[in-house]
Amino acid sequence: MALDLYIGVDLGGTKTKAVLANGSLEIIREKTIPTQMDSTETILKSVLNAVDAVWDTEEIKAIGVGTPGQLDRKRGIAIQAPSMGWSNVPLAQFLSNRYGVPTYIENDINVAALGEFSCLGESEANAVYVNVGTGIGAGIILSGKLFLGNHGNSGEFGHLTMEPMGPLCNCGNRGCLEAIAAGPAIGARATQWARARKNSQMHSLALERELTAKEVSEFARSGDPLAIAVLEETGMYLGRGIADLVCLFDPGMVIFGGSVILNSPYVWDAMLAEAEARLMPIIFTNTAFLRARLGGDSGAIGAVVLARERSREDSA
Ligand SMILES: [Zn+2]
Repeated sequence: MALDLYIGVDLGGTKTKAVLANGSLEIIREKTIPTQMDSTETILKSVLNAVDAVWDTEEIKAIGVGTPGQLDRKRGIAIQAPSMGWSNVPLAQFLSNRYGVPTYIENDINVAALGEFSCLGESEANAVYVNVGTGIGAGIILSGKLFLGNHGNSGEFGHLTMEPMGPLCNCGNRGCLEAIAAGPAIGARATQWARARKNSQMHSLALERELTAKEVSEFARSGDPLAIAVLEETGMYLGRGIADLVCLFDPGMVIFGGSVILNSPYVWDAMLAEAEARLMPIIFTNTAFLRARLGGDSGAIGAVVLARERSREDSA
């Protein structure tokens, strides 16, 4: 019997991770390397280096790749991704030509959603995966299947308008959740607040340069009330968005990934408190709010799930 082996690749702007795994999602080998971001060619070379490092058998059935931005899934083209600085890259064809196996691509957040969902063991369930890091996005799973929307653009959770006159978002709108609660927004707000508050531990650093969200979390952990206030406000906005999401989908499970939520208990607690305050009690209590379990592996494992599911569909 042929081995049921797949390669999953999590391609991001800082690192590229490849795993070799079987159909039961057990990792056999893995490799993480820095993504060389100089050009499209160097990015593709990073992918090849990561895949080469885990490849050692002719039995691999398919490759799955999770990558940021807009995609043409049918043709396997990465259409546009500002964070990668590339456009119209025939990513799937490049890999299938090189390795001689079918290759499938999907948005990185959707792939992480597949990875996290797959380890819950509830194949028919509904779930929403929410990632809050440098950006904010969601992967929506309905009856066990990724819901992509008509044009593959579902799950733009970060662009819900929270404050009509709020800070300008990368998308051109004002007051999007991402412009308030993603990592860079947390750093910017903390910096702005701390410059005016001499008694904050963040004050002197804020006068020198912009703080990062990670630093704000560290100041909060050491008890700085201003840092705590910034994170609690962030959690409150996230909780409002989550309440809207749960109202719309009744997903049963909301799974959270990304550094902003996972690194800060202040964000987590304020988010759940706000979601509880805004949702009908019956809806809130029927929803499980879970932390991502796979950590840094959710993208690569999700890419294996993508490869497994899509290759089975194609051969059916
Ligand atoms: Zn936006």
